[in-house]
Amino acid sequence: MSEVSARNVTKRYGELRALDNVSLDFPDGSFFALLGPSGSGKTTLLRSIAGFVEPEEGEILIDGVDVAHIPAHKRDIGMVFQNYALFPHMNVFDNIAFGLSVRGVSKADTRKRVGDLLDLVQLSGLDERKPKQLSGGQQQRVALARALVTDPKVLLLDEPLGALDKRLRQEMQIELKQIQRAVGITAIFVTHDQEEALTLSDQIAIINDGKLVQIGEPNEIYENPRTRFAASFLGDANFMEGSVDGDRVTVENLGALATSSPLAGARATLAVRPEKMQLTALDAAVSEGNRVEGTVTQRVFSGTSVTYIVETAAGPMRTFQQNAGDRMFDADEKVAITWSPNHTVVVED
Ligand code: ADP
Ligand code: MG
Repeated sequence: MSEVSARNVTKRYGELRALDNVSLDFPDGSFFALLGPSGSGKTTLLRSIAGFVEPEEGEILIDGVDVAHIPAHKRDIGMVFQNYALFPHMNVFDNIAFGLSVRGVSKADTRKRVGDLLDLVQLSGLDERKPKQLSGGQQQRVALARALVTDPKVLLLDEPLGALDKRLRQEMQIELKQIQRAVGITAIFVTHDQEEALTLSDQIAIINDGKLVQIGEPNEIYENPRTRFAASFLGDANFMEGSVDGDRVTVENLGALATSSPLAGARATLAVRPEKMQLTALDAAVSEGNRVEGTVTQRVFSGTSVTYIVETAAGPMRTFQQNAGDRMFDADEKVAITWSPNHTVVVED
């Protein structure tokens, strides 16, 4: 059980700032996702915490202690990587026991501890197998058990499920979360997969170009993205830009739209999630809130829902309708899109 903090951490590679003044607190016992596109600095931050990368500026604190002068192997951290990194010539038992044997733990204690971990990751009975005799998911469980065997303070996971197919990945996500809860360890999890970040984590930090974009609980960030990048990287959004007139934003060709976000400055960008928009026939009773007319250009039926692309005077909008049994709209049909000011979020560009 431990808390980890990064304070004004900057890491440069030549001209490039892989991390640019990053400050972030990972609370004790939390499952924290670092979410960002490839090359955004996620691995660099994880490796800085682990001690494999030395930032030029700032501090990494573990339980309030600056760890700059503590080498990686003494930081009491467990790590799991995407590519398993198991020892191929060792069996499952020896792979998991590795951290104990280098610490000189007795044979009896090792057997007990490895047995407990095999139970935890549901691999009991497979202790004699070699890594190549295991599936990808099983190998990743061994890697997890190996990382946890020394009872580290913090668990760092760098895209640990990235090599697994979708179905298995979803299974492992649930299991990983259960194991993290059971052990109560602070876990920092790197992913570029927004769905994985949403389903797994207590908190998400969105990172882009080495900078922190937004930190918060999954639903908090999803409902209130702070920037255009956050809105489009975590979920899907329709954007509308216009000039601020009192408590409304006038979008060219669309008219005045209401938002419950505070407005400041001369111009504003609005973001609306596709599932927050309703489609109606043009002659349907006018509802309160925002309303825009357009023409359906595409309809994608996927069973539980229907996605429509609607061409409006301000460009195409994507809307997502639950399949509640209503009539579907056809391509070329004129429709109105309506939505609430509460779901109209002002974002920074
Ligand atoms: P992510 O894990 O988010 O994909 P990384 O942290 O691996 O991103 O990399 C961030 C940036 O730093 C990238 O532009 C990458 O090319 C660069 N980078 C990472 N490690 C090195 C290195 N050892 N030398 C030079 N550039 C590096
Ligand atoms: Mg990476």
